[in-house]
Amino acid sequence: MDKKNTPIEIARQTLMQLMHRKLPPTPDNFRSVYDEIAGTKSIDISLELGKTLEKVLHEAGKQKPKYIVAAQAMAPLIEKHDWSKLEEQLRKLFPTGTVDTDVAEVNWSILIRNLLKQLEVSHKGVTLSRKKEGLSRVLSNFSSDPEVLGQKIQALISSWGLGSSATDAPGPPLLKTDGNTLQLPANASIQTNTVANSNLPNPWRETLLRTFELALIPNLQAVPDSQQKAVALLARMRQANTEQAVLKCTDELKPILLTIEMQRDLQQRIHESLLQLLRLITSSMGELVIEDKWLHGQTMVINDIVSKPLNINMLYDAESSLKELAYKQSQIKPALTEAKDTLKKMVTTFVDRLVEMTESTSDYHEKIENYQQRITSTEDIGELNVLLNSILDDTRAIGLNVQRTRDEFSISQQKAIEAEKRILELTAELDHIGEVAHQDYLTGALNRRGMDEALEREFSRADRHNTNLCIAMMDIDHFKKLNDSLGHATGDQALTHFVKVIKDVLRTTDIVARYGGEEFIIILPATPQDEAVSVITRVQRELTKNFFMHKNERVLITFSAGVAERRPGEIPEDLIPRVDAALYQAKQSGRNQVIAAEATIDQ
Ligand code: GH3
Ligand code: MG
Ligand code: MG
Repeated sequence: MDKKNTPIEIARQTLMQLMHRKLPPTPDNFRSVYDEIAGTKSIDISLELGKTLEKVLHEAGKQKPKYIVAAQAMAPLIEKHDWSKLEEQLRKLFPTGTVDTDVAEVNWSILIRNLLKQLEVSHKGVTLSRKKEGLSRVLSNFSSDPEVLGQKIQALISSWGLGSSATDAPGPPLLKTDGNTLQLPANASIQTNTVANSNLPNPWRETLLRTFELALIPNLQAVPDSQQKAVALLARMRQANTEQAVLKCTDELKPILLTIEMQRDLQQRIHESLLQLLRLITSSMGELVIEDKWLHGQTMVINDIVSKPLNINMLYDAESSLKELAYKQSQIKPALTEAKDTLKKMVTTFVDRLVEMTESTSDYHEKIENYQQRITSTEDIGELNVLLNSILDDTRAIGLNVQRTRDEFSISQQKAIEAEKRILELTAELDHIGEVAHQDYLTGALNRRGMDEALEREFSRADRHNTNLCIAMMDIDHFKKLNDSLGHATGDQALTHFVKVIKDVLRTTDIVARYGGEEFIIILPATPQDEAVSVITRVQRELTKNFFMHKNERVLITFSAGVAERRPGEIPEDLIPRVDAALYQAKQSGRNQVIAAEATIDQ
């Protein structure tokens, strides 16, 4: 090898040239003088590295433009070999110690679950096909970079959520940046567990709240407790901004909706009973009008009912007492009319005789004619008596001393007084029917008044003798259907049959009362609960043997019943709700059941 061309010789020459040109012996100066002497072009590794870095950043910039910007900023630094500034730039691009949200990792499992959910949930103004279109666009545009794809899908879902309904609870956050911590991307307005961003229009939510406030809550007017609860719940519903809070409100809403439903049912029954009551009044008006006083009395009863808040039991009571009234009046009316007729006939006969005797006395004759007219036209018993006294005076005045006439007159007067007395008695009897009746006219069971007295009597007896006592409440199953299909009159007959069967099964000490409509209360003195249940079950069995017959067809009547044993010292106002609750359970369990209150106590 030529010694002159050896690397050592070239290096030596290079150093001498550097000294000669007064250049500092830096690696770069050394390399450029070396290349000059050797006639070569050596590779600048740092420059190569810099160029490679620049190239990679340009490629990355196709997905994320910020890398292109960075590459452009670094190019002159690489050219100038300004490595310290280059390092600065690189650090800016990949900051350490802080979290770069752009490079966040996508949690695909949560993202896909949320995607599926949000595809199903309806969002205002975004149809399913629009969602699918958007999704397929994102999938084809960003398929090459999973990170970007995840973010784009996420942003797409968020865009559906804008203006979504209150019930559209979006899924949890989707990105994680440090393994455990879930964090939202800076550039996507993803909804968290917040149900409805208060800034977003949410017409569904508002509409539902208004419906609850204006259409449902007013239905609870008759149950102030529930109404207050509903109003308080409405306030909480307005505040409910998280999925959890909404679910809690939904749970609290359930019992309120049930109460509303039951209230609606009750309203319907009240409605029907009112109609029935009015029908009854109209049809029995003829029976009721004997004297104005009666009609007035009845009007007062109806006024009384209508002026108070409607109550189903009160209506049944009113119906039942009106029926009784009509019945009693129809019995008394002939006797009353007969008494009046007798009186009139007697007085008229007497006056006729008197006329015959006094034909010669024209003055007296005129008076008598006048009496005759007044007697015929009057309906008032008191006035008849006054007339008779006046006639007697006039007769005395003209000096007619006819023994026979006098005797007959006295007898007639006596009879008139008796008839008047009888009329007064009958009238008083009618006046007090409403107050004194203890029996239900239709079925012969005790009515509410009778039941109240019996409960008081039997309860104090149980206290005195320290014995147990049960009551049962029975309600005929689907009685409305029977009424609807066979008519109300047949319904009445079925009720009578029902009570007859009950009475046949019960012991003589047991008491049956009509609690209202087709509901009955049985008082079973000195009876423990299991025995009471078996008595009522016997009634149930008996009804399946002893059918109610309608036009030669057998009609099966079933009932549901609750049975409760009285606790020591318990008053009817506490015991009846317990037995009523047991009856409700029996209805809920499918009807035709007898349920003891024990199962429902303290629920
Ligand atoms: P459920 O099994 O739930 O008790 O059904 P139901 O149809 O028996 O219930 P509901 O209490 O709604 O209906 C009772 C019906 O009884 C309505 C009412 O018209 C009728 N009713 C009440 N009193 C009488 C009455 O004196 N005679 C007749 N014929 N029907 C009556
Ligand atoms: Mg009922
Ligand atoms: Mg019923």
